Amino acid sequence: MNISLFSTGHCKQLEALSIRGGRWGNISFPGIFAMIEHPELGLILFDTGYSEQFYEATRRFPYRLYRWITPVSIRHERSAAQHVKAAGFSPSEVRMVFISHFHADHICGLNDFPNAEFICSRAGYQSIKPLKGFAAVKRAFLPELIPSGFEARVRWIEDAQVVALHASFAPFKNGFDLLGDGKLIALELSGHALHQFGVIMQDESENHILLGADACWSARAVKENRLPHPLAFLVFDHAKQYKETFSRLVELNRLNPELPMLFTHCEEAWRMCGSRLDPTEGDR
Ligand SMILES: [Zn+2]
Repeated sequence: MNISLFSTGHCKQLEALSIRGGRWGNISFPGIFAMIEHPELGLILFDTGYSEQFYEATRRFPYRLYRWITPVSIRHERSAAQHVKAAGFSPSEVRMVFISHFHADHICGLNDFPNAEFICSRAGYQSIKPLKGFAAVKRAFLPELIPSGFEARVRWIEDAQVVALHASFAPFKNGFDLLGDGKLIALELSGHALHQFGVIMQDESENHILLGADACWSARAVKENRLPHPLAFLVFDHAKQYKETFSRLVELNRLNPELPMLFTHCEEAWRMCGSRLDPTEGDR
C-alpha cells in the first residue's frame, strides 16, 4: 500500500517538555496525518490533523482556552481535505478515517469526508463522548469537531478480529486486524490518551511501518529512551500507561531497529511530508 504523510499545521511547544533534557525554548509541533492507498478499498486516512474548523470549534469560551494554551498555525490549503485534493483525489473518495484518539489536533478534518466510515476505539470514544465545557478542554477534546451522525458511521476497533503479531513486533503481542486482510493492524498504545491506538501497516514493498500517533512525541525520544518531562505527564490521561507504552516502544525499537515509527508531532516524520514514503531509503 502506498502511504503519504502531510502536515496540516503546527503549534508551539517547549522542547524541554517533550523530551527529557531538551531546551527550555519553543519548538514547532507539526500536526501530521497519513493517507494510505489500499489496493482494493481505496483511500484510508490515519487521523485528519488540524483544519480551519479548529477556529470555529474554539470560538466560544471555555473552548477558546484551547487556542490560548496551544497557539496554532493553520491555513486552509494545509487541511487534510486540501491535501487529498492536491494528491489528485476527491474528499468524497476517502473510504475510511482511522481515529487514533480524540484530541482536537487529530480530528479537525472529520467533517470534510462525507462518505468515510470512521474507525476508532469504542472505549476511547465513550471516555470523551459525555465531555463538555472545561471537562472537555481538560482532555483536549472539542465536541463540535465530531460530525453529526458520527455513531452511525463508526466501525469499532474492538470489534475487529484479534490477531497474534509476528515475533518481530515483540514485546507487543496482539493487535486488531481492521480490514481482515492483515494489511492494517490496530495496536493499543494507551496512556497519552485512554485507549489511544496506532496502526501497523505494510507499504508497497511489504515493509512494515508503525503509525504511533501521540504514543510518543518523537522517534528520537524512543531511540534515545528519553521520556517527556514530568510536567508533561499532567496533560496525559494515564501517566502509568504512558510509561508502559513508551517502554514497549523502546524495546520494540531495540529489537527491531529497522521498523520505521512515525509519530504525529515528530520532526523526522515532518521531513517526510508531501511525498510517498520509501522506508528502504536511509534511516527513518
Ligand atoms: Zn494527543
